[in-house]
Amino acid sequence: MKNHKIALVTGANRGIGFAVAKELLKKDVTVIVTSRSEDDGIEAVKKLSEYGKVIYHQLDVTDKASINSCYAFAKAEFGKLDILINNAGINYDTHQNIENANLDEVLATFKTNAIAPLQMTQTFLPLLRNSDRASIVNVSSGSGALASQDGSTPGYSLSKLGLNGITLALANQLKNDGILVNSVCPGWVRTDMGGGNADRSPEKGAETIVWTALLKDGIMTGKFFRDKQVLEW
Ligand code: NDP
Repeated sequence: MKNHKIALVTGANRGIGFAVAKELLKKDVTVIVTSRSEDDGIEAVKKLSEYGKVIYHQLDVTDKASINSCYAFAKAEFGKLDILINNAGINYDTHQNIENANLDEVLATFKTNAIAPLQMTQTFLPLLRNSDRASIVNVSSGSGALASQDGSTPGYSLSKLGLNGITLALANQLKNDGILVNSVCPGWVRTDMGGGNADRSPEKGAETIVWTALLKDGIMTGKFFRDKQVLEW
């Protein structure tokens, strides 16, 4: 079963992460669903199990011990990882601006939205290297573009700009290993973060993330996608 793909999705208990897990399962990918709350994750797995082979492990992406435990589980269970979806994210901080930003909050946002995907990648690299064609997708945002740095949502926008930078640096570093690293803006999506007025369903938000995860073209790395098109940032 060497060719059977194994994926791990962070923050898969709700929102876009849940939809990404569902779409990957429909494409016959085995999915390690992770969430920081075990109860929420097990509820999600109950709903996802009708779509394919799903397996659960707890994972708080800001907790190194939790990352290590999840890594040990994936290693013992599968010995490789083909797809890593760094989806977990927090704090669309419309309540502050760069002039008065609460720096503890900005730091916490950076930790979850930018540093955690890097730490996840560093930790899971040995398993990603055991894949024939590994693909890492960082769920970013249009607010991570340089042109979007207008000072509103300072923690969020700067963390996603940082995530895009991390994506590019990792893509360049891992190119020779055949590991693709890309980021994706899902668009404005109806989730707890996006709110009820957003124009996209979680499934629509998941579409380009899943498409990117399954890219076969080795040149398509270090890119930032929305709607299957490269975005300038
Ligand atoms: P939600 O708020 O609906 O879901 C966020 C998910 O991240 C939850 O599962 C949450 O878990 C999880 N999470 C947060 N912190 C951690 C942590 N420390 N460890 C593990 N999981 C964690 O947001 P969305 O689904 O909308 O967002 C998913 C991604 O898409 C984010 O990166 C977001 O920035 C990005 N995005 C969303 C847009 C939108 O319009 N919705 C637009 C552009 C980008 P818990 O349930 O425990 O809180």
